[in-house]
Amino acid sequence: MTAQHLRADICVVGGGLVGLATALKCLQSRPDLSVVVLEKETETALHQSGRNSGVIHAGVYYTPGSRKAEFCRKGLVQTKAFCTEHGVKWDECGKLIVATDRRELQRVDALYERGVTNGVPLERIDAKRLTDLEPHVRGAGGLLSPETGIADYRGMAEAMVRVITECGGQLVCGATVTAMRETAGGVQVSSSRITVNAGYVVVCAGLQADRLARIAGLKPDFRIVPFRGEYFQLPPERNRIVKHLIYPAPDPSVPFLGIHLTRMIDGSVTVGPNARVAFARESYGKLDFNFTDTLDFGLFPGFWKFVGKHMSSAAHEMRVSLIRKAYLREVNKYCPELTLDDLRPYRAGHRAQAIDLSGAPIEDFHFLETERMIHVCNAPSPAATSALPIGEDIAGKVLNRFSRS
Ligand SMILES: Cc1cc2nc3c(=O)[nH]c(=O)nc-3n(C[C@H](O)[C@H](O)[C@H](O)COP(=O)(O)OP(=O)(O)OC[C@H]3O[C@@H](n4cnc5c(N)ncnc54)[C@H](O)[C@@H]3O)c2cc1C
Repeated sequence: MTAQHLRADICVVGGGLVGLATALKCLQSRPDLSVVVLEKETETALHQSGRNSGVIHAGVYYTPGSRKAEFCRKGLVQTKAFCTEHGVKWDECGKLIVATDRRELQRVDALYERGVTNGVPLERIDAKRLTDLEPHVRGAGGLLSPETGIADYRGMAEAMVRVITECGGQLVCGATVTAMRETAGGVQVSSSRITVNAGYVVVCAGLQADRLARIAGLKPDFRIVPFRGEYFQLPPERNRIVKHLIYPAPDPSVPFLGIHLTRMIDGSVTVGPNARVAFARESYGKLDFNFTDTLDFGLFPGFWKFVGKHMSSAAHEMRVSLIRKAYLREVNKYCPELTLDDLRPYRAGHRAQAIDLSGAPIEDFHFLETERMIHVCNAPSPAATSALPIGEDIAGKVLNRFSRS
């Protein structure tokens, strides 16, 4: 196909939830502007946005005052409202964070304080109340977050596309962005399918965020490391084993929440995800290996510093990934009756986690800005929950610049 040319006021790169929410919020505020979304795949939400746990997080975990804490709280409200308005399935099933021993009770206490500071309604529960609420779960106590929910995030992305189109926006799939050239008057975005001359560009490229920043001429001092999250699905006769989402007390030294039991919007229950380094950013077979992707983080000094700091948990995660019994042990800590036969295959997802030069995972949502571009560089969980407020924030910044130019 020969490349077409298009003029647009705003071009969004990436048709995941963050890119779509950005386009939607721009159009809802300024329906007079032309907005085009470029997505390299044949449809939206094929990567992180369509391969996650489907949880509407309430904001328990995040550092008070951080963007994550703020956007997650707003996102919880906006996601539920958006889904209700547009007929996307969601459910407020609530969540239990379970401590299995004294050390984990201390972690849960710290989480309680943090969650309350973030404005999250939480109830501390003891072992008796835990088994009253969830007869198949064992623990020394924990936290109940009644507001936490689940949503059909793929359905939400589809609904966003409908709204964008109704507002006059355009989605072009199969358009891999290969170059971006910023001048004083705009940005030329070249893709495999179409060239867009845009006033402003917002890049929401998930697992490709660092590469897109580099091809736009920026010098990001971080690297996206893909962390593979493997899930299993319980057999249908186990679908009623839990009423809430069941999460372990997370290890505060790693940016992941631990293997949980998740009620999905289709009524099934998944177990997962673990978190080990993936050797391909966007292909999901267990043994998939992409030389360029692996070299990209393998040559980045921050990655090795990260591995050095987390050697034992990295080895543990690899064991959990390779040995199903080790995986089962993680969930048996709080749900002892599940067996190997209960772990049925399910799709995996890869998290885009930015690691900085010092080897630290960038905790908060992170953006890089130039005069005419905004790059979303780090938008891991809870960015599905937070997509609408992230989009609103970015739209505010872009539209503000519009009124100045
Ligand atoms: C295993 C897992 C579990 C998670 N669980 C939850 C959860 O329960 N709740 C929650 O809130 N969050 C969760 N998250 C996080 C959440 O899914 C992501 O943070 C969110 O979906 C990020 O959205 P995004 O739009 O930034 O990225 P993505 O959904 O990855 O979208 C990026 C898009 O950019 C496109 N793209 C990339 N490069 C180019 C290019 N060159 N040209 C054109 N297009 C390009 C990609 O094809 C992709 O469609 C989870 C993530 C994972 C992986």
